Amino acid sequence: MVPELGEEEKGPTTLCSGQAPICPFPEKGYSNPMQPAKPKAAGLETDIHTYLERAACPLCGGDGGKIVIEAGDTWNSRGPARGLKFKVRRCQKCGMCFTSPRFREDSKHVPFLGRRLFPAPTKKQGAAVTRQEMRPFLRRAERLQRAHPVPGKVLDLAMGDGVFLHLLRARGWSVTGIEKDREVVARARTQRSIADCSACDVEYDPLPPGPFDAVVLWGLLPRMYRPRVFLEKVREVLAPGGVIGISVPNIRSAGAWLFRKHWSGLGLPRHLVHFDRDSLNRLVESSGYQVLELSFETPAGSTGDSVRSALPLPGLLGGITRLSASILLGGFGGTGRGDSITLIARATR
Ligand SMILES: [Zn+2]
Repeated sequence: MVPELGEEEKGPTTLCSGQAPICPFPEKGYSNPMQPAKPKAAGLETDIHTYLERAACPLCGGDGGKIVIEAGDTWNSRGPARGLKFKVRRCQKCGMCFTSPRFREDSKHVPFLGRRLFPAPTKKQGAAVTRQEMRPFLRRAERLQRAHPVPGKVLDLAMGDGVFLHLLRARGWSVTGIEKDREVVARARTQRSIADCSACDVEYDPLPPGPFDAVVLWGLLPRMYRPRVFLEKVREVLAPGGVIGISVPNIRSAGAWLFRKHWSGLGLPRHLVHFDRDSLNRLVESSGYQVLELSFETPAGSTGDSVRSALPLPGLLGGITRLSASILLGGFGGTGRGDSITLIARATR
Protein backbone atom coordinates (compact mmCIF):
# COMPACT_ATOMS: atom_id res chain seq x y z
CA MET A 1 0.00 0.00 0.00
CA VAL A 2 1.18 3.50 -0.74
CA PRO A 3 1.21 5.48 2.48
CA GLU A 4 -1.57 8.02 2.51
CA LEU A 5 -1.84 11.13 4.57
CA GLY A 6 -5.46 11.39 3.57
CA GLU A 7 -5.79 15.01 2.52
CA GLU A 8 -7.82 15.62 -0.57
CA GLU A 9 -7.04 18.68 -2.60
CA LYS A 10 -8.56 20.12 -5.69
CA GLY A 11 -8.06 23.44 -7.30
CA PRO A 12 -7.04 25.37 -10.35
CA THR A 13 -3.95 24.12 -12.10
CA THR A 14 -1.33 26.36 -13.57
CA LEU A 15 0.95 24.67 -16.01
CA CYS A 16 4.23 25.96 -17.34
CA SER A 17 4.66 29.59 -18.18
CA GLY A 18 4.73 28.99 -21.91
CA GLN A 19 8.24 30.34 -22.24
CA ALA A 20 10.38 28.35 -24.62
CA PRO A 21 13.02 26.54 -22.57
CA ILE A 22 16.69 27.06 -23.25
CA CYS A 23 19.34 24.44 -23.71
CA PRO A 24 22.07 25.79 -21.43
CA PHE A 25 24.75 23.59 -22.91
CA PRO A 26 24.53 23.83 -26.70
CA GLU A 27 27.15 21.79 -28.46
CA LYS A 28 27.87 21.33 -32.10
CA GLY A 29 25.62 18.83 -33.78
CA TYR A 30 22.67 19.36 -31.43
CA SER A 31 21.03 22.68 -32.10
CA ASN A 32 17.96 23.81 -30.23
CA PRO A 33 15.03 24.08 -32.64
CA MET A 34 13.11 26.38 -30.30
CA GLN A 35 13.84 30.08 -30.13
CA PRO A 36 14.89 30.56 -26.52
CA ALA A 37 13.37 33.24 -24.35
CA LYS A 38 15.60 33.66 -21.36
CA PRO A 39 13.66 33.32 -18.09
CA LYS A 40 13.78 36.36 -15.85
CA ALA A 41 15.72 35.91 -12.65
CA ALA A 42 14.50 39.16 -11.09
CA GLY A 43 13.17 38.70 -7.58
CA LEU A 44 14.37 35.12 -7.41
CA GLU A 45 16.70 35.52 -4.48
CA THR A 46 14.02 37.07 -2.33
CA ASP A 47 11.07 34.91 -3.36
CA ILE A 48 11.68 31.39 -4.58
CA HIS A 49 7.91 30.85 -4.62
CA THR A 50 7.90 32.74 -7.92
CA TYR A 51 9.21 29.56 -9.50
CA LEU A 52 6.62 27.17 -8.06
CA GLU A 53 3.40 26.02 -9.72
CA ARG A 54 0.51 23.61 -9.24
CA ALA A 55 0.75 20.68 -11.65
CA ALA A 56 -1.81 18.49 -13.39
CA CYS A 57 -1.42 14.73 -13.83
CA PRO A 58 1.23 14.28 -16.55
CA LEU A 59 -0.53 11.19 -17.89
CA CYS A 60 -4.21 12.21 -18.18
CA GLY A 61 -4.21 15.93 -17.31
CA GLY A 62 -6.49 15.38 -14.31
CA ASP A 63 -6.61 18.08 -11.66
CA GLY A 64 -5.91 17.62 -7.98
CA GLY A 65 -5.32 14.25 -6.39
CA LYS A 66 -4.91 12.64 -2.99
CA ILE A 67 -1.67 13.47 -1.20
CA VAL A 68 0.38 10.34 -0.52
CA ILE A 69 3.66 11.81 0.76
CA GLU A 70 4.82 15.30 1.68
CA ALA A 71 8.52 16.12 1.99
CA GLY A 72 11.19 18.75 1.53
CA ASP A 73 14.27 18.55 -0.67
CA THR A 74 15.26 14.95 -0.02
CA TRP A 75 18.74 15.20 -1.54
CA ASN A 76 19.96 18.59 -0.42
CA SER A 77 18.27 19.92 2.69
CA ARG A 78 20.54 22.98 2.64
CA GLY A 79 19.93 23.81 -1.02
CA PRO A 80 17.85 26.62 -2.46
CA ALA A 81 14.62 24.64 -1.81
CA ARG A 82 15.25 24.40 1.94
CA GLY A 83 12.13 25.07 3.96
CA LEU A 84 9.78 24.29 1.06
CA LYS A 85 7.39 21.33 1.13
CA PHE A 86 6.49 19.35 -1.98
CA LYS A 87 3.60 16.91 -2.25
CA VAL A 88 3.32 13.64 -4.12
CA ARG A 89 -0.30 13.25 -5.26
CA ARG A 90 -2.10 10.29 -6.76
CA CYS A 91 -4.34 11.22 -9.70
CA GLN A 92 -7.94 10.33 -8.97
CA LYS A 93 -8.60 9.56 -12.63
CA CYS A 94 -5.69 7.33 -13.63
CA GLY A 95 -3.70 6.55 -10.48
CA MET A 96 -0.43 8.16 -11.64
CA CYS A 97 1.55 9.83 -8.84
CA PHE A 98 3.07 13.25 -9.51
CA THR A 99 4.68 16.17 -7.70
CA SER A 100 2.60 19.28 -7.05
CA PRO A 101 3.58 21.95 -6.28
CA ARG A 102 6.70 21.68 -8.35
CA PHE A 103 9.34 23.97 -9.81
CA ARG A 104 8.30 25.55 -13.07
CA GLU A 105 9.83 24.15 -16.21
CA ASP A 106 12.07 27.16 -16.78
CA SER A 107 13.50 27.09 -13.25
CA LYS A 108 16.24 24.63 -14.07
CA HIS A 109 17.56 27.01 -16.70
CA VAL A 110 17.90 29.93 -14.33
CA PRO A 111 21.63 30.16 -13.59
CA PHE A 112 21.16 31.00 -9.92
CA LEU A 113 18.80 28.11 -9.30
CA GLY A 114 19.45 25.52 -11.97
CA ARG A 115 22.82 24.06 -11.10
CA ARG A 116 22.05 24.08 -7.38
CA LEU A 117 18.66 22.42 -7.77
CA PHE A 118 19.72 19.99 -10.46
CA PRO A 119 23.36 19.25 -9.63
CA ALA A 120 25.51 17.03 -11.81
CA PRO A 121 26.32 13.49 -10.63
CA THR A 122 28.79 13.85 -7.77
CA LYS A 123 31.30 11.12 -8.56
CA LYS A 124 34.75 12.67 -8.24
CA GLN A 125 37.33 12.72 -11.01
CA GLY A 126 39.20 9.42 -10.98
CA ALA A 127 36.95 7.78 -8.36
CA ALA A 128 36.55 4.06 -8.98
CA VAL A 129 33.13 2.45 -9.31
CA THR A 130 32.55 0.06 -6.43
CA ARG A 131 31.28 -3.49 -6.93
CA GLN A 132 28.10 -2.52 -5.13
CA GLU A 133 27.51 0.39 -7.53
CA MET A 134 28.28 -1.86 -10.48
CA ARG A 135 25.78 -4.61 -9.72
CA PRO A 136 22.61 -2.82 -10.91
CA PHE A 137 24.37 -1.92 -14.19
CA LEU A 138 25.38 -5.53 -14.72
CA ARG A 139 21.83 -6.74 -14.17
CA ARG A 140 20.45 -4.09 -16.54
CA ALA A 141 22.98 -5.04 -19.20
CA GLU A 142 21.92 -8.68 -18.95
CA ARG A 143 18.24 -7.77 -19.24
CA LEU A 144 18.85 -5.52 -22.22
CA GLN A 145 20.85 -8.24 -23.95
CA ARG A 146 18.12 -10.80 -23.37
CA ALA A 147 15.84 -8.57 -25.44
CA HIS A 148 18.55 -7.76 -28.01
CA PRO A 149 21.15 -10.56 -27.94
CA VAL A 150 23.18 -9.31 -30.92
CA PRO A 151 25.33 -6.27 -30.01
CA GLY A 152 24.33 -3.17 -31.97
CA LYS A 153 24.19 0.58 -31.43
CA VAL A 154 23.12 1.86 -28.00
CA LEU A 155 22.27 5.38 -26.84
CA ASP A 156 22.41 6.22 -23.11
CA LEU A 157 20.35 9.34 -22.37
CA ALA A 158 21.57 9.84 -18.81
CA MET A 159 25.01 8.33 -19.07
CA GLY A 160 26.62 10.07 -16.07
CA ASP A 161 30.34 9.45 -16.50
CA GLY A 162 29.73 6.54 -18.84
CA VAL A 163 29.85 3.46 -16.61
CA PHE A 164 27.03 1.62 -18.37
CA LEU A 165 28.32 2.45 -21.84
CA HIS A 166 31.79 1.28 -20.84
CA LEU A 167 30.24 -2.01 -19.78
CA LEU A 168 28.26 -2.48 -23.01
CA ARG A 169 31.20 -1.54 -25.22
CA ALA A 170 33.18 -4.36 -23.63
CA ARG A 171 30.35 -6.65 -24.79
CA GLY A 172 30.64 -5.52 -28.38
CA TRP A 173 28.15 -2.63 -28.55
CA SER A 174 28.79 0.65 -30.35
CA VAL A 175 28.04 3.36 -27.78
CA THR A 176 26.71 6.94 -27.78
CA GLY A 177 25.94 8.97 -24.69
CA ILE A 178 24.25 12.17 -23.53
CA GLU A 179 24.51 13.94 -20.21
CA LYS A 180 23.38 17.46 -19.41
CA ASP A 181 26.54 18.61 -17.62
CA ARG A 182 29.64 19.39 -19.64
CA GLU A 183 32.04 18.50 -16.84
CA VAL A 184 30.49 15.06 -16.50
CA VAL A 185 30.68 14.55 -20.26
CA ALA A 186 34.36 15.46 -20.10
CA ARG A 187 34.86 12.80 -17.42
CA ALA A 188 33.16 10.20 -19.63
CA ARG A 189 35.57 11.09 -22.42
CA THR A 190 38.74 11.05 -20.34
CA GLN A 191 38.00 8.33 -17.79
CA ARG A 192 36.00 5.87 -19.90
CA SER A 193 37.09 6.88 -23.40
CA ILE A 194 33.48 7.41 -24.53
CA ALA A 195 34.25 9.35 -27.72
CA ASP A 196 30.72 9.77 -29.04
CA CYS A 197 29.09 11.75 -26.26
CA SER A 198 27.62 15.19 -25.85
CA ALA A 199 26.12 17.64 -23.37
CA CYS A 200 22.52 18.68 -23.91
CA ASP A 201 19.09 18.55 -22.36
CA VAL A 202 17.31 15.49 -23.68
CA GLU A 203 13.81 16.84 -23.06
CA TYR A 204 14.26 19.90 -25.28
CA ASP A 205 17.03 19.20 -27.75
CA PRO A 206 16.99 16.85 -30.73
CA LEU A 207 18.41 13.41 -30.00
CA PRO A 208 21.24 11.96 -32.10
CA PRO A 209 19.49 10.67 -35.23
CA GLY A 210 20.35 7.00 -34.90
CA PRO A 211 18.77 4.64 -35.66
CA PHE A 212 19.76 2.85 -32.45
CA ASP A 213 19.14 -0.77 -31.58
CA ALA A 214 18.72 0.17 -27.93
CA VAL A 215 18.13 3.36 -25.95
CA VAL A 216 18.46 3.40 -22.16
CA LEU A 217 17.23 5.97 -19.65
CA TRP A 218 18.25 4.80 -16.22
CA GLY A 219 16.62 7.04 -13.61
CA LEU A 220 15.70 9.75 -16.11
CA LEU A 221 11.93 9.41 -16.67
CA PRO A 222 10.80 10.79 -13.26
CA ARG A 223 12.39 14.14 -14.18
CA MET A 224 10.44 14.66 -17.39
CA TYR A 225 7.71 17.29 -17.53
CA ARG A 226 6.04 15.42 -20.41
CA PRO A 227 7.00 11.74 -20.03
CA ARG A 228 4.78 10.42 -22.84
CA VAL A 229 5.99 13.00 -25.36
CA PHE A 230 9.54 12.16 -24.35
CA LEU A 231 9.05 8.40 -24.82
CA GLU A 232 7.54 9.04 -28.26
CA LYS A 233 10.57 11.17 -29.12
CA VAL A 234 12.87 8.32 -28.07
CA ARG A 235 10.91 5.90 -30.25
CA GLU A 236 11.71 8.04 -33.30
CA VAL A 237 15.46 7.29 -33.00
CA LEU A 238 15.00 3.54 -32.44
CA ALA A 239 15.58 1.09 -35.26
CA PRO A 240 12.57 -1.11 -36.18
CA GLY A 241 12.25 -3.63 -33.37
CA GLY A 242 14.68 -1.65 -31.22
CA VAL A 243 14.46 -1.88 -27.43
CA ILE A 244 14.28 0.66 -24.64
CA GLY A 245 15.53 0.20 -21.06
CA ILE A 246 13.98 2.25 -18.25
CA SER A 247 14.60 2.28 -14.52
CA VAL A 248 12.58 4.29 -11.99
CA PRO A 249 11.98 4.23 -8.22
CA ASN A 250 8.87 2.28 -7.17
CA ILE A 251 6.44 4.43 -5.17
CA ARG A 252 4.68 1.25 -4.00
CA SER A 253 7.84 -0.29 -2.59
CA ALA A 254 8.30 -1.53 0.97
CA GLY A 255 10.93 1.20 1.38
CA ALA A 256 8.47 3.96 0.38
CA TRP A 257 5.90 2.57 2.81
CA LEU A 258 8.40 2.29 5.68
CA PHE A 259 10.50 5.43 5.25
CA ARG A 260 7.83 7.74 3.79
CA LYS A 261 9.31 11.26 3.52
CA HIS A 262 12.80 9.85 4.14
CA TRP A 263 12.62 7.31 1.32
CA SER A 264 15.62 7.78 -0.99
CA GLY A 265 13.54 7.12 -4.13
CA LEU A 266 11.38 10.22 -3.66
CA GLY A 267 13.91 12.58 -5.22
CA LEU A 268 11.85 15.66 -4.40
CA PRO A 269 11.60 18.26 -5.82
CA ARG A 270 13.43 16.98 -8.93
CA HIS A 271 11.27 13.92 -9.50
CA LEU A 272 8.03 15.13 -11.09
CA VAL A 273 6.46 11.71 -11.75
CA HIS A 274 6.44 8.75 -9.35
CA PHE A 275 5.82 5.33 -10.83
CA ASP A 276 4.57 1.94 -9.76
CA ARG A 277 4.28 -1.19 -11.88
CA ASP A 278 0.86 -0.33 -13.33
CA SER A 279 1.45 3.34 -14.12
CA LEU A 280 4.84 2.66 -15.74
CA ASN A 281 3.37 -0.16 -17.83
CA ARG A 282 0.47 2.01 -18.97
CA LEU A 283 2.67 4.95 -19.88
CA VAL A 284 5.16 2.85 -21.86
CA GLU A 285 2.53 0.84 -23.74
CA SER A 286 0.52 3.96 -24.60
CA SER A 287 3.70 5.54 -26.01
CA GLY A 288 4.19 2.92 -28.72
CA TYR A 289 6.09 0.09 -26.99
CA GLN A 290 5.42 -3.50 -26.00
CA VAL A 291 6.69 -4.31 -22.51
CA LEU A 292 8.94 -7.39 -22.61
CA GLU A 293 10.22 -7.60 -19.06
CA LEU A 294 9.59 -5.83 -15.79
CA SER A 295 11.68 -6.54 -12.69
CA PHE A 296 12.23 -5.15 -9.21
CA GLU A 297 15.19 -4.80 -6.89
CA THR A 298 16.21 -3.02 -3.71
CA PRO A 299 19.88 -2.01 -3.99
CA ALA A 300 21.67 -1.86 -0.62
CA GLY A 301 22.68 1.74 -1.29
CA SER A 302 19.05 2.77 -1.72
CA THR A 303 18.02 1.39 1.68
CA GLY A 304 21.21 2.77 3.27
CA ASP A 305 20.37 6.29 2.09
CA SER A 306 16.81 6.02 3.43
CA VAL A 307 18.06 4.82 6.83
CA ARG A 308 20.70 7.56 6.94
CA SER A 309 17.97 10.16 6.41
CA ALA A 310 15.40 8.67 8.81
CA LEU A 311 17.80 7.57 11.56
CA PRO A 312 21.13 9.42 11.33
CA LEU A 313 23.10 7.30 13.79
CA PRO A 314 26.88 7.79 13.97
CA GLY A 315 29.73 5.30 13.52
CA LEU A 316 29.43 1.56 14.00
CA LEU A 317 25.84 1.69 15.26
CA GLY A 318 24.74 3.52 12.13
CA GLY A 319 26.60 1.04 9.94
CA ILE A 320 24.98 -1.97 11.62
CA THR A 321 21.53 -0.38 11.37
CA ARG A 322 21.94 0.35 7.66
CA LEU A 323 23.30 -3.13 6.97
CA SER A 324 20.46 -4.84 8.86
CA ALA A 325 17.81 -2.77 7.08
CA SER A 326 19.46 -3.43 3.70
CA ILE A 327 19.40 -7.20 4.28
CA LEU A 328 15.81 -7.12 5.52
CA LEU A 329 14.43 -4.95 2.71
CA GLY A 330 16.66 -6.62 0.13
CA GLY A 331 14.47 -9.68 0.75
CA PHE A 332 11.56 -7.77 -0.81
CA GLY A 333 13.72 -6.65 -3.70
CA GLY A 334 12.62 -9.24 -6.24
CA THR A 335 8.92 -8.83 -5.43
CA GLY A 336 6.62 -6.02 -6.51
CA ARG A 337 7.73 -4.20 -3.35
CA GLY A 338 11.32 -3.61 -4.49
CA ASP A 339 12.65 -0.05 -4.39
CA SER A 340 13.33 0.24 -8.11
CA ILE A 341 11.66 -0.99 -11.30
CA THR A 342 13.57 -1.92 -14.44
CA LEU A 343 11.52 -2.24 -17.60
CA ILE A 344 12.58 -3.46 -21.04
CA ALA A 345 10.25 -2.79 -23.97
CA ARG A 346 10.28 -3.01 -27.75
CA ALA A 347 9.09 -0.29 -30.11
CA THR A 348 5.93 -1.37 -31.91
CA ARG A 349 5.44 1.43 -34.41
ZN1 LIG B 1 -4.10 11.02 -14.30
